[in-house]
Amino acid sequence: MHTHSTYSDGVLRPAELVRRAASRGVTLLALTDHDETGGLAEAQLAASRCDVLFIPGVEISALWNGQTVHVLGLDIDPRAPDLVAGLSSIRHCRSERAARIAAQLDEAGVTGSLQGAARLAGNLAAMGRSHFARFLVEQRHARNISDAFRRYLGAGRAAYVSPSWPSMEQAIGWIRAAGGQSVLAHPDRYRLSTRARHCLFEAFEQSHGDAVELSRDSKCKSSSQIRLAQHFGFALSSGSDFHAAGKNVADVGEASQIPAGVPALWRRLRGHA
Ligand code: AMP
Ligand code: MN
Ligand code: MN
Ligand code: MN
Repeated sequence: MHTHSTYSDGVLRPAELVRRAASRGVTLLALTDHDETGGLAEAQLAASRCDVLFIPGVEISALWNGQTVHVLGLDIDPRAPDLVAGLSSIRHCRSERAARIAAQLDEAGVTGSLQGAARLAGNLAAMGRSHFARFLVEQRHARNISDAFRRYLGAGRAAYVSPSWPSMEQAIGWIRAAGGQSVLAHPDRYRLSTRARHCLFEAFEQSHGDAVELSRDSKCKSSSQIRLAQHFGFALSSGSDFHAAGKNVADVGEASQIPAGVPALWRRLRGHA
């Protein structure tokens, strides 16, 4: 219920992603590119050819309390006008941010990053920090992707630019207007105190969010997540957040099992229960 293709920062084309998923035994798959729905038609067609039930999705970049959070929209109508306009405004922010990231990298002594990252992204409007990270590794300014985030691209680092994403409430509104379900993605990955995480969940509930994503981390962490989700009446969703095959990252199909007795979001999606 959470994957990426070349339409954002994944490395497989939508059809390649679907075929990899099918070959690994996946029968229900959502493509959720960052702020982009351009890959859904290709994925849908590929899925219909290999017996995979396909859920059209998106992962929206949003702000809550000045911090970036990701909201998945699942089972969306990608033609819904509010969603189309909203995603297009985010992609505009992305291309402006990319120019500023490149300028700050220039100042830090890394030249040619705008062209380099654009070449890796293939599409200026989809440009994100992952493409800059790959460029930094390619040019040996960083040892690997996480090193690139640690040295340059992470919050507070030399090439970090505060993004001007829409509010979390707006993102949920666009997903609702597109007939979809909203999922707070990877809640364990935001750097928040227990108290602040509680406030985030509360705000997500007040903005009519539907579900939270179960992390792939330790059982203990996920059981406290389940309790918190149940406290607010959220369903649970699960996914690999697959971008590319590699060591220490989940492959497509590797997602936490939603325990019996806890409402699973996928059961509520149109026609898939
Ligand atoms: P953006 O939306 O352009 O700010 O980029 C966010 C994306 O960068 C995430 O979806 C991840 O794919 C990737 N990312 C963020 N932080 C890290 C990290 N520390 N290591 C590796 N990838 C990361
Ligand atoms: Mn990503
Ligand atoms: Mn994310
Ligand atoms: Mn993701």
